[in-house]
Amino acid sequence: MKKLRLAEVRQVEKSFNWHSRQNFSAIFLLGGGAVFPFVLLRWQAGDGVGSALTAALVLSFWALAAWSLSGRRIGIVPVLVMLVLCDLMTHITVMRLYQNGIFWIYPLMMAVAYVMPWRWSIPLNMLNVIITVWHAAGWMSEDEFSRLAATLLVTWVFLSFFAFNLEQQHGILRNLVVHDPLTGAFNRRYFERKLDEARRQWMRTGNPYSMMMIDIDHFKLVNDIHGHAMGDKVLVALVAYLNAQLRPQDRLFRVGGEEFALLLPETSAAQAVQLAECILKTLAAASLARGLPRFTVSAGVAELPARSPLSEWQTRCDAALYAAKGSGRNRVVAAEPEDAVNGVSNEAGHLL
Ligand code: GH3
Ligand code: MG
Ligand code: MG
Repeated sequence: MKKLRLAEVRQVEKSFNWHSRQNFSAIFLLGGGAVFPFVLLRWQAGDGVGSALTAALVLSFWALAAWSLSGRRIGIVPVLVMLVLCDLMTHITVMRLYQNGIFWIYPLMMAVAYVMPWRWSIPLNMLNVIITVWHAAGWMSEDEFSRLAATLLVTWVFLSFFAFNLEQQHGILRNLVVHDPLTGAFNRRYFERKLDEARRQWMRTGNPYSMMMIDIDHFKLVNDIHGHAMGDKVLVALVAYLNAQLRPQDRLFRVGGEEFALLLPETSAAQAVQLAECILKTLAAASLARGLPRFTVSAGVAELPARSPLSEWQTRCDAALYAAKGSGRNRVVAAEPEDAVNGVSNEAGHLL
């Protein structure tokens, strides 16, 4: 299974992250709201400094919520640094309250484990435990102190497992969301997301960008003659073979039962046709592995169009594939360049 690159992971996270923007901002809005009454209570108690510190904390939480709601992009590190500062500010506020404030350490540790990546939350929560224990050692009785230290450590261990497991499961979920389980190729859902990104890359760089659609010929016959299990093996073998032909920047998607799409950055239609011909020749010449039936594929190729909507790109590629099927299979057809068809581009182009 091809591993996701960091940039792709970030892109997937934008829509599948359980820490969605709404989720993140709700936590900080509610967190700020929960702490806000203490601004007034400290003020009423005549503790002006405590009230000001608590107000600063509330404002920091709400600033994080506002950032999250605004949809602005800030690097993850500034956000994490801000969270660490919030955490330390909570400690200063709590320490000033002595006994009364110490219980806040538990929800604080929970919040840290929930909103931060485990690599940050585990050491930060250890620091939380150390600061609290160091602070409590000055005024707690021995009996109380041992209970506090024990419960803090148990909470830290539990939250460490919780944060680690949650992130692991999140990773698994992310993979399930973008991959086809049988072949390990990226799935159709991810293909649709990638189309938009392809166009943005193409507009940014001005380099040609091609799509190739590949469909196995008479695949139904493979199933009928050799059985469905063998059909599955053919699909897996084809994906392994195609992946081996691709450059690191190319992407392979299973967009239908036996239909695949390739996104090929910095590739003209002519270059994509060359690649398709090479694939077709290899597949037609011999079976991919011992015991696997030999099979052929048909391919359609289309370069990213300049003016028409993005869906047109896919339509032109589909039409080219359809033309390859119609003209006898085991061949590749390139869609006409957009200019040549004068805007009516869902006709297939010339046969190669
Ligand atoms: P053509 O050359 O026109 O593409 O003919 P075809 O038989 O390949 O196409 P058709 O659409 O008639 O049949 C596709 C077959 O692919 C039918 C379906 O059972 C099979 N198929 C789809 N998904 C899977 C799968 O995951 N595993 C297996 N073994 N077969 C599948
Ligand atoms: Mg087919
Ligand atoms: Mg098909």
